[in-house]
Amino acid sequence: MERFVRPGQTVLLKPNLLRKARPEEVVATHPALVRAVVELVKKAGGKPTIGDSPGAALAHTRNTLLKLYRACGLDRVARETGADLALEAGCQTVALPRGRLVKRIEIIDCALKADVIINLPKLKTHSFTLLTGGVKNLFGLVPGLIKPAYHAKFPDVDDFASMLVDICEFANPALTIVDGVWAMEGAGPGAGDRRELGLVVAGTSPAAVDLVLSRIIGVDPLTIPTVRECVKRGLLEQDLSGVEVRGETIEAVKAEGFRVPPGRRHAFPRWAVPFMPLAKRLLTTRPRIDRKKCVGCGDCERVCPVNAISMKEGQAAIKLSGCIRCFCCHETCPHRAIGLVRPLFQRLMV
Ligand code: SF4
Ligand code: SF4
Repeated sequence: MERFVRPGQTVLLKPNLLRKARPEEVVATHPALVRAVVELVKKAGGKPTIGDSPGAALAHTRNTLLKLYRACGLDRVARETGADLALEAGCQTVALPRGRLVKRIEIIDCALKADVIINLPKLKTHSFTLLTGGVKNLFGLVPGLIKPAYHAKFPDVDDFASMLVDICEFANPALTIVDGVWAMEGAGPGAGDRRELGLVVAGTSPAAVDLVLSRIIGVDPLTIPTVRECVKRGLLEQDLSGVEVRGETIEAVKAEGFRVPPGRRHAFPRWAVPFMPLAKRLLTTRPRIDRKKCVGCGDCERVCPVNAISMKEGQAAIKLSGCIRCFCCHETCPHRAIGLVRPLFQRLMV
């Protein structure tokens, strides 16, 4: 840690706090990992602050943040270690000098104030970007309710990945340390299943960390949009070489049979775009409400960037013709009431 943190520096520890969830639900970075990193930062003479902004359904307010930290076990970590909790609700629009797609974006204050950022993602699958790892975790620096606007602006997953890499380049975390002790497989990032891997993966490059994660979970790295974008930008070698792996070998820690979500990356060829409505219906994975589980909380309605969800008779209803398949609703629903369905035609093709 002394290589990355100098005495007196303010260090933001940025976990994944998608929504209020107990550690055993594996939605958020485990407080034990955050605690361990806090202690290392303190030992190096740094001043640790724990901070994030919640997922897209929640406003970035002091009250929301307090409840989030409490539910995820981080208020206790802060109390017991003396770390600060970032509770200020402010953000600023900043320039992204190295941004390829996005030149300006809103970033929460605690990230702008920090001398050093340490990125603490959770190893989870993701219904839209396939993997929640080092690069994707930094989207959390954009305030909660502003996130859906970027889903609406960049509905294409490759554009969205390009925006994520722009944010990652701006944040430039000194270290990325992934909580893969209990990972999430299946319908991540909010409704998947716990998978015990017992892994912590760390590196100085979020792109390299994601490359390693994809190999550990047995996914072709180039099917992960953020990895593809990092290759395009020269942040990773074309042939995916050049990443030095220390400690365990990838083979030794490989998670055989790790389940990934049925995202829309499957069978949506570019030639189908002109026939969008039909192609969308026949070829893309779509969200579906489980009426037995929906309690009508309205979180999905608030998060949908294109207002394709409305509440009818106390339950959510999706107008699929307007849906851009961003899966924010699936990610957000605290009751796991939104599943993802692959149409028959898509299943036949892939
Ligand atoms: S689907 Fe989920 S998020 Fe939407 S209203 Fe029902 S319970 Fe709430
Ligand atoms: S209904 Fe469609 S557009 Fe709206 S949040 Fe869900 S997946 Fe995204």
